[in-house]
Amino acid sequence: MRGDARSMTLLRPRSVEEALRLYAKHPGAVPLAGGTDFMVAWNAGEANGCTILDLSRLAPWKRITETKTGVRIGALVTHREIQLHPGIRKRLPLLVQACATIGGRQIQARGTLAGNLANASPAGDTFAPLAVYEARVRLRSAGASRALPLLSVFTGVKKTALAADELIESIEIDFPRRPARQCFRKVGTRAASAISKTVAAGLLWFSSDGRVREIRFALGSMAPTVRRLASVESLLAGQKPTSRLVEQAVELLESDVSPIDDLRSTRAYRLEVSRNLLRAFLSTSR
Ligand SMILES: Cc1cc2nc3c(=O)[nH]c(=O)nc-3n(C[C@H](O)[C@H](O)[C@H](O)COP(=O)(O)OP(=O)(O)OC[C@H]3O[C@@H](n4cnc5c(N)ncnc54)[C@H](O)[C@@H]3O)c2cc1C
Repeated sequence: MRGDARSMTLLRPRSVEEALRLYAKHPGAVPLAGGTDFMVAWNAGEANGCTILDLSRLAPWKRITETKTGVRIGALVTHREIQLHPGIRKRLPLLVQACATIGGRQIQARGTLAGNLANASPAGDTFAPLAVYEARVRLRSAGASRALPLLSVFTGVKKTALAADELIESIEIDFPRRPARQCFRKVGTRAASAISKTVAAGLLWFSSDGRVREIRFALGSMAPTVRRLASVESLLAGQKPTSRLVEQAVELLESDVSPIDDLRSTRAYRLEVSRNLLRAFLSTSR
């Protein structure tokens, strides 16, 4: 069955306060940002009978604000706006690269970072960069505001820790000190408009004696939710990344993820490619 607008109720708040009040009154309402995920459900008739909370008039949530320590990205900021922002381009390039791989230009022009997060697909392409940047997601309800670390937002496939009356207000990211190495790689069937089989983001800092001072490495599409490779990171911290240690890290990767066979790829392929991405990141001389 196709979408039937006549069966739906549309709420169009003009302010953040009004939106939060309405959401508290209609807890089952579906927030609508860019609508790129929503329209898939709409086309399948799955939104029929729903109450829609249209967020498009919430001007304060359309802004990117530079803070003392980094940047605050409002919930209605699109993937395209993130790619064009000078501060984000300079200091958070992995996020820019991820946003540039989301669907095609039309999807990037409408789709929002907050919508990507709230949709909570295991294959959400922005999550691995946000995980290594240790982003915080600010949630608002009529009575309260709280910030969750990125990794605590996701509780399962398409499931989040948001309460029934909470909306994502913004994504807060501190600019990291300049890393010695960084990488973003999305591996899909095609270079554009493909859902990822695996997606990786990494940041690496060295001490003056060539030891790993800190490493952060995250993988998406490799578990129900995005994963930081905690075992790999702690194995490498404080060590010189010799080829032997790199191979140990590559072997350990499997203990931090749980990829599956599905219609896009196999567990074996996902593991092999992710191991190759980690090996390349640790071995590169750049
Ligand atoms: C053709 C196509 C290609 C795509 N390619 C990719 C891709 O390559 N990589 C990728 O990661 N994704 C992809 N997507 C998915 C989608 O475009 C992204 O997830 C996008 O960021 C969603 O943002 P949106 O603003 O359009 O969300 P919407 O569709 O408006 O909303 C998505 C979900 O989030 C909820 N929501 C939205 N805003 C808020 C808020 N502020 N607070 C709480 N809940 C909220 C909505 O209720 C809904 O459940 C693709 C989609 C399509 C249709």
